[in-house]
Amino acid sequence: MTKHIFVTGGVVSSLGKGLTSASIGMLLERRGLSIRMQKLDPYINVDPGTMSPYQHGEVYVLDDGSETDLDLGHYERFTNSPLTRDANYTTGQIYQSVIEKERRGEFLGQTVQVIPHITNEIKDVIHKLAAPDVDVVITEIGGTVGDIESQPFLEAIRQFALDVGKENCLYIHLTLVPYLKAAGEMKTKPTQHSVGQMRQIGIQPDILVCRTEKPISADERAKIALFCNVPTRAVIEERDKEFSVYEVPLSLVENELDKLIVDRLGLPAGPLELDPWRELLHRMRNPDHEISIAVVGKYAGHRDAYKSIYESLEHAGITNKAQVRIRPVLSSDVEREGPERLLSGYDGILVPGGFGERGVEGKVDAVRYARERGIPFLGICLGMQCAVIEFARNVVGLDRAHSTEFDKDTPDPVICLLDEQRSITDKGGTMRLGAQQAKLTAGSKSAAAYGSEAVWERHRHRYEFNNQYRQQFAANGMAFAGTSPDDSLVEIVELPDHPWFVAVQYHPEFKSKPTASHPLFAGFVGAAVRRRSQRRSEPAGDSSNEAARAEVATPDVALQEEPVHESDG
Ligand code: GLN
Repeated sequence: MTKHIFVTGGVVSSLGKGLTSASIGMLLERRGLSIRMQKLDPYINVDPGTMSPYQHGEVYVLDDGSETDLDLGHYERFTNSPLTRDANYTTGQIYQSVIEKERRGEFLGQTVQVIPHITNEIKDVIHKLAAPDVDVVITEIGGTVGDIESQPFLEAIRQFALDVGKENCLYIHLTLVPYLKAAGEMKTKPTQHSVGQMRQIGIQPDILVCRTEKPISADERAKIALFCNVPTRAVIEERDKEFSVYEVPLSLVENELDKLIVDRLGLPAGPLELDPWRELLHRMRNPDHEISIAVVGKYAGHRDAYKSIYESLEHAGITNKAQVRIRPVLSSDVEREGPERLLSGYDGILVPGGFGERGVEGKVDAVRYARERGIPFLGICLGMQCAVIEFARNVVGLDRAHSTEFDKDTPDPVICLLDEQRSITDKGGTMRLGAQQAKLTAGSKSAAAYGSEAVWERHRHRYEFNNQYRQQFAANGMAFAGTSPDDSLVEIVELPDHPWFVAVQYHPEFKSKPTASHPLFAGFVGAAVRRRSQRRSEPAGDSSNEAARAEVATPDVALQEEPVHESDG
C-alpha cells in the first residue's frame, strides 16, 4: 500500500519547502523506494501560467504541456518521479472541477460546500498518485499555515489520515528557528506557535524540519520537542546552505531524516546510495576553471524568475569542472547604456525566454554584441527570436525586421504567429506547450552536443520563425540546425562560423539535472571555458574589459516591479 508524506510550512514563506520535499524524495529514491511528488498550491489561478515570474518565479513546463509551479523543477532535478498534470493542483483547478461537477448535476440536491466537496476533491487528487508500484507519495502544501487560502488543503490532509489510517501518513512541518542577534539566542517560539496552529486544525506534525542560520543546540532541540509534542529525534535541523542547494539532502541525512521516515512509515527501504551525489558536490567544490556568464533578461533582482536557467548553468559547470559565476543583467539597462559598457568581459551571454516588449531591444543588442565579438551565445525561446531579429536587421539588411508580438506593422515579420494561434483569445494554457520532437542537422553544433539527431524538448511560446525568410537567412549564413520532424517549424538556429552561437525555440533548461547536465548548456559553458582559457593566454589580455565589468553593479529592479506576494510560498 502506498504511504503518504505531507510537507507543510509555517512561520514565514520562502523557507524552501520545495527543496526540502525534493530532497526527501531524492533520499527515499536512493534507498530504493519508488516515489511520486506533488504540489498543491492555494492560489486561485488555475495554473501559474498567467502569473508574472517576478511575483511567483518561473513557470515550469512539463512534458505533457502543463504549466506548473517552479518547485516542480526541484522535484525533477532531485528525483526521477515522473511528473504530469497530476503533480500540481491549485485552488483554482480544484474549484473549477467541483463547479463543473455541480453544473453537470453530479451533486443534485446537495448544498455544495468546502467541507466535504472541496476537501473530497483535494483528497481525490492526492489519491490519484497512489498505485501498487508506488511506495510513497510526497505532497507539498504551498503557502504557510495560518493563510486563509491554505485551510481547505490542511483540512483535507487531516481527513486523509482518517481515511487511509494514521500509520500510513506522515506530517512533516517546516519551520524557521531564527537567531536574534540582540539577544544572542535562537528563538523557538515561532516554531511553537506554528505547530500550535497546526494542532488547532487537528494535525500533530510528526517531524519538524527547522530552518536555521546557526546550529540548534541539544537544549533547544529538547525544548522544541517538548513544546511541540514530538520526540527529540524528530526535530531535524536544516541549516542554511551557502554553497549549494544540492547540499540539502546531505544535511538531512546527517540528521537521519531518511531513517526516521523509513522507520515511522515502515517502508521496505534498502541502504542509502549517495555516492553519485557526493561525487557531484566534490566536483562542484573543486573546479578547474572559473567563468562568468551574463544572463540578459527582463528581470534581474529576482533569482527565481530564471530559476531553471541558473540551475542548468550550474549543472553545465559541474560537467565542465567550471565554477560558473552568473550575472543577471537587465536588458532595459543594456538598451540604455549599451552592450559595450554592460557586457564586456563575460565569457558567455545567454538571452532567456520572456514576454512583453520591455527590454527587447536590449536583448537584440546583446545578441549583436555576442555575434560580432565571437562570445559564446545561447538564446532560449524569446532569446532565439531576438537572435533572428538581430540577424535580419544587421546581417540580412532588413532594418525594420521584428516580431509581430512587438511590432504589428513591421515590414519584415521574421517572427510571427502561426494561423493556429491567430484565433486564440484566452491566455491560460493556450500556447504551444510541452514536449515536441525536433530533428537536428547532422554536423551541426547542436547535433554534436546532443550526440543525437532526434530530440524531445519542451515548448512554451506562441510565436515562431517565419518560414518565408528561411532561404534568405540561410544564404546569409544562418544555419537551421533543428526543425520539427515535418520541417514546418524552426527549432534551432546556429551560426557555423561563430565559436558557439546556438539559439533554440524551446526550453532546454527544463531538462537539465545536476547529475546529467543538458547537452546545450554543457556545450555553451564548454565554449565559455575555452574562450576564457584563450583570453588568458593572449599576451595583451583584455583587462580594460574586466575593469568595466567590475563596475557593473547588480541592478535593483525591485522598485520597478510589483511587490512580491507574501503568501506565495
Ligand atoms: N513571447 C514569445 C512567444 O510567445 C517567447 C516566449 C518565451 O520566451 N517563452 O513566442
